[in-house]
This record gives sequence, C-alpha cells and structure tokens, in this order.
Amino acid sequence: MTSVPVQQIVSMAQQRRGSDYRWTGIVALGVLLLLGLVLVLADAPPAPLAAGVPAAQFSAERALKHVEAIAAAPHPVGSARHIEVENYITTTLRQIGLTPQVQKATGRDRWIDMPMPLENIVADLKGSTPGKSVLLVAHYDSVSAGPGASDDGAAVATLLETAKILKSQAPFKRDIVFLFTDGEELGLMGAQAFVDQNPLAKNVGLVLNFEARGTSGPVILFETSDQNAWLIDNVGKAASHPVANSLSYEIYKRLPNDTDLTVFKRAGYPGLNFAFIEGVIHYHTATDTLQNLNRGSLQHQGDYAVELARWFGNVDQIEPGHGNAIYFDVLGKVLVHYSSRTGTLLLIAAALLLVWVFFRGFQQRKLSAARLVVSIGIALAGIVAALAAVLAIQRITMALAMRFQHVHTSTLYSGGYYVAAAVAFGLAVASVIYVWALKRFGPVNLAAAAMLVWFGLSVWTTLWLQGMSYVWVWPLLFSALAWGFVLETGRQERSMLLLAGAIPAVLIVVPLAHKVFTAFGLGSGLIVSALLTLVLSLCAVQVGPDSMPRPSVLPITLSAAGIALFASALLM
Ligand SMILES: [Zn+2]
Repeated sequence: MTSVPVQQIVSMAQQRRGSDYRWTGIVALGVLLLLGLVLVLADAPPAPLAAGVPAAQFSAERALKHVEAIAAAPHPVGSARHIEVENYITTTLRQIGLTPQVQKATGRDRWIDMPMPLENIVADLKGSTPGKSVLLVAHYDSVSAGPGASDDGAAVATLLETAKILKSQAPFKRDIVFLFTDGEELGLMGAQAFVDQNPLAKNVGLVLNFEARGTSGPVILFETSDQNAWLIDNVGKAASHPVANSLSYEIYKRLPNDTDLTVFKRAGYPGLNFAFIEGVIHYHTATDTLQNLNRGSLQHQGDYAVELARWFGNVDQIEPGHGNAIYFDVLGKVLVHYSSRTGTLLLIAAALLLVWVFFRGFQQRKLSAARLVVSIGIALAGIVAALAAVLAIQRITMALAMRFQHVHTSTLYSGGYYVAAAVAFGLAVASVIYVWALKRFGPVNLAAAAMLVWFGLSVWTTLWLQGMSYVWVWPLLFSALAWGFVLETGRQERSMLLLAGAIPAVLIVVPLAHKVFTAFGLGSGLIVSALLTLVLSLCAVQVGPDSMPRPSVLPITLSAAGIALFASALLM
C-alpha cells in the first residue's frame, strides 16, 4: 500500500527534472546567438588613439593630418596633384630627420601600354648591425576617379607616422626602409622598378605591404609569402591586435587580385600583406574620402606597422621558412598557430575521440548503424535545404529590386541585412528538418552523424586545403570531447557540457562567415549559409526539441530573426 505514494513521488521528481531540461535549450540558444552577435560586433578594428597619447604610440588622429594633405584630391601618375603629394611626403620625411631618395624610373601603363615616368620615394632608417633590412611599403598614387584616402593614403600616412616614431627610438639592429611606390594603380610599376633597379632592394629581408580595398573594418593580414611559419610565429608575438587566418591566403591565392607585394613575392622576397576591406562600395571611387576613412582602421594599420617594424627590426636573424603555418586569431587578441604536422596530429586526436564516442554509443545502444546512416543523410539534407532557401530568397529580393527602385537602392546600401535575412531563413528551414529528425532518430545518432560530416571536412582540408583545416578540426575536437564525457559518465545528453562543447564552433565559424561576407558581399549568401548550417547541425541537440518547452521554439526564433532582418533591410 505504501508503494503508490513512493512511485508518485518518483514520477513527480522525474517530471520536475524533465521540466528543468525543457529550459536548457532556451539557455543554450540564447548563449549561442548572443555569442554569435558579440563575435560579429567584435570583428572590428581597435579604437583610434587621440593626438595626445605619448609619442611612442601610433595615434590615428595624428596620422589623419597626413591623410588630409594627401587625399585632398585625386593624384594619379602624371597629374599636378601627384607632384604635390610627392613633395609632401619628401618634406615630411626630412622634417622627421630622414634623407629621402627619389628613384626615377619609367614603367609601362598596363591599361594604355604607354611609357610612364615614375618616382619612388625611399627613406632608410639605418640599423646598428649589418644584415637584411625590413621594408615597409605603401603606394602614393591614387586612381583618377577618387582622392584615395583609404587606398592608399591611409597607408602612406601610416608609414610617415611610423617613420617618425621609429626615428625617435632608433637605432634598431637592422635597417628599416620606408618605400612609397609610384604607379601601383597602373600596374605595380613602382614596385617593379624598385625591385629591378634600386640598390636597396638587394638587402631587403622582409616586406610589409599596406593596402585597402574599402574604407573600414579590421586590418587583415590576408596574404603571406610561401613558407610562412617563422613569420606567423613572430607576428603572433609582436602584434597587439592580430587579425589573420590561414584560409584567407588560400582564397586570395585563387583570386586574380594583385598588390605591390605580388612583385616582391615573384622576386622571391618574404612578405606580409595587410588590408582593410569593409566599405568596398567606396573603393576606387570619388567617395574614397577622408570623411569615409574609418579612424579605427587607420589606427589598426598603424599599430601593425609600428609593432612589426620594431619587432622585425630587432630580431637577430630574419629567417623565414620552416614550412607553412595553420593559423587563426581569436577575437583579434590571440593568434593561434601551429605546423602542418601538428595539424595532422589534431586530426588523429579528433579521430580517436570519435572512436570513443562511437564505442560508448553503440555499447549503450544509443547509436544504431542504420539510424546513423540515415542521420548523415539528414545532416546533409539540412544544408541542401538551407542553401535552396537562400537561393529562393535571393531570387525574391532580386525580383523586388527590379520592380521597386527603393528596394534596388537599399540592396546596394544594406546588402548585409539581406544576406543575413536569407541566411536566417535558411537556418530556420534546416532547423525544421533537424527538429523532426531528433524526435525520430534520437540525439546521439544525429550528433554522431554531424560529427562524421565535420570529420569528413577535417580529413579533406587536412589533406588538400590545410589552411582551412582549423575551421573543422577544433570544433570537432571539442564536440567529440563533450559527447564522449556525456556518454562515459551517463550524464544527461542535454547538459551544459554539450553547450560548452559547441562554443568553439561558433567562436571559429562566425567570425569567418562575417569575413566571407565582407570579402564577397551579396554573393556570399550560399557560403555563409553553408558554414552556419554546419554549425547548427553540430549543436542541434543542444537547442533541439527535447530541451525546449516546445519543439517549435528553434524554427520560430530563427524565422523571427529572418523577418526582423528582412524588415530592417527594407526600412533602411
Ligand atoms: Zn591600392
């Protein structure tokens, strides 16, 4: 007779426990969305420093004076304004206490195939010991269409301010050479003339090139010379705000873009290439003005120039080599970097963790081979469905843009919101599939299937696209570790441990997706969608139906985000 109340108490306790778990999904969804938002906002340059900061520090406000002088008007090769800018640079270098040399040369304009007189400006800050020099490069010509405040006035100003700061701290161990190239916009002519004819070129050990393809955003170390492990290791030590990843170079290699660094790399010089790329709408136009130049981007460029010139100017030996590094920054604070051998070891570690998960999963009968195979299909189907949704929404946006002028203008100026809206709807569609599948096939099968997909991507990139392998391997390691612990200890699948395991995926993929968007704009929808849907597949259990008050919470939240983003795009 007493057994009835006991059973009641047990079942009440179970119900209470069940209802607790029904809110863990809300917490997980909130944490992951908030983290994503913070990461997008944090993908920005540091705050600009005022003119009053100590002279040893780079100040964007001080550098801005130079941009003002340089970018008052367009100054293409051959224009009167070009001569004024040249005079401004040589005068400023003399005021700093350096002795600028003007290297006269003739180049051939790649557009009209005509000989062009060129004048590179070079200033050498002598080092204390003989050895290779560090060369800082910016081009001082602009396109004729605009004043070139960002491209490349900001970099010219950066070099002038850096020269001033370093002159006051000299000598460094090695020579630091400032090169203001001419005729970059006409086909990298000044850089070519320097490499071919300038005696200082022979002694260059490292090239740091500063560029812009827009007016704002963080300054990205987007390109390196081959065999970059030593360089990246030193950038990690020297830069206070490193923004870099080994994938950007893999992508850049495949694009037909050139900067002065192309010339140096072709001639066999080691080098690093920096640029800010947001606000591409102003690139090579009349609106590449002082007003539109982001002060933070200028600050970021200056921080790199001062910190790296100082660092490489004082190393005992410039010794590039040691293979290519795999690298990425976390929140622009830390540069994680390692060798390709370590990359392979990480893949093996991920494989071992997966073996552990699968062993426990099958042993506890939470995994079944048939359901696992179907779940892999579902994980992939979610991605395909998301991509289809993005395509459909892009079609609708295009149709609206053709029909309504105001939509047409807004796609130009608030394109980011359209892409974000399409991606959110894509995620909503994928989430419907994942929520259904979680009910049908169980969390462990679906999570294991998603991890197998990520493992496949890890293997592919480790073998053939190593610069991208970090994107897949690190999230997989943490997810597999969390699932291994959950299965090993028999703790509930819906625990906070799994949430912690999902955080590296967001931490690595969201900033990457944001950079893909800034680099490729409206054309980035499909790649961004694929990246984020893969993240969703990996953490679907954490925000899935078993951990929500209602199974529909996830799809509704994502759809609501899509509607809000679409509405703000139209209203802007
Ligand atoms: Zn440029």
